[in-house]
Amino acid sequence: MIDGLCELCDAALVERGRVPAYQAPNSYEILDCQACNTMVSQPKKLVPSIYDAIYSVPGGAPGYDRNFQYARRVTRVKYPLAYLASRQDAFWGVEHLLAELTNPRVLEVGCGLGYLTYALRRAGYDALGIDVSPEAVASATRVFGHFYRAESIESYASKCSDTFDAIVMVEVIEHLEDPVKVLQSAMRLLAPGGSVIVSTPNRSFFAPGSDWATDLPPVHLWWFSEDSMHAMARRLGYNVSLVDFTEYSSTYPILHVYRPPLAPMFDESGQLARREAALIHVARRLGILQEAYWLVSRAVGRFRSRCSPRRPNLVAAFGASALAAG
Ligand SMILES: [Zn+2]
Repeated sequence: MIDGLCELCDAALVERGRVPAYQAPNSYEILDCQACNTMVSQPKKLVPSIYDAIYSVPGGAPGYDRNFQYARRVTRVKYPLAYLASRQDAFWGVEHLLAELTNPRVLEVGCGLGYLTYALRRAGYDALGIDVSPEAVASATRVFGHFYRAESIESYASKCSDTFDAIVMVEVIEHLEDPVKVLQSAMRLLAPGGSVIVSTPNRSFFAPGSDWATDLPPVHLWWFSEDSMHAMARRLGYNVSLVDFTEYSSTYPILHVYRPPLAPMFDESGQLARREAALIHVARRLGILQEAYWLVSRAVGRFRSRCSPRRPNLVAAFGASALAAG
């Protein structure tokens, strides 16, 4: 049975079977647009309580624990933005694009614990962070200072006369019910010549026709590709350019591609359903696993010459004249 049309490109969606929900016992239908290589869950509905479960795990649920480590470490390193860029491709892409602008005013949408906004400010950018979670904003303000507001982009755009040269959304749009509408709100806050910079898991990194291999719904409601970004840009009437990661991959090659298991993260009572060995658990909590991966990747990078322009995350710049992202 075909169920509706792609919101990005209007092609027919194809059913691709069900996946379990991030929290048991539900499941979600996965629909696939083979024209723009976009997957979307059905129902496509944000469930705010799932984030309470993720962030109530001490140090964060697996996959979100690195956010807590970034928040802890950015205040201890000399160059927080360079630190983040070295640890994650998406931050490198953002840093790379912002470097092309002269003294940009930056708005981070979905700033969460606030470490990227802080790192941008430390790098000299005039940056402000917004997030819909009052708890996240309270934590960011307490740790980093008064550069954060608890607000959605739609409400901020409706009453704010400020404009920004860059609006940054790192790993946000795949969580949203209506990413095109959110991007439209962001566009209203752009100064002339500005760009909306977006990162998201990249389905184009995987073989064509791949099954769902990103966080389970309702955490990720979408799995986008490079073609999805072009379809979105056409819908918005803007240009888009994609960051080429060849340079990054030559320093930090991909050693292992993580595919989250298609099994619930939480049981019905909100407890972690996936048990990990005690030693792995401690190493992950302390950030040792992530740091070890980073060190080995950097060491391997010294001996590797063939590099891919693609990473498991993509970074795209939308604008009237999108930044040269190559
Ligand atoms: Zn499509």
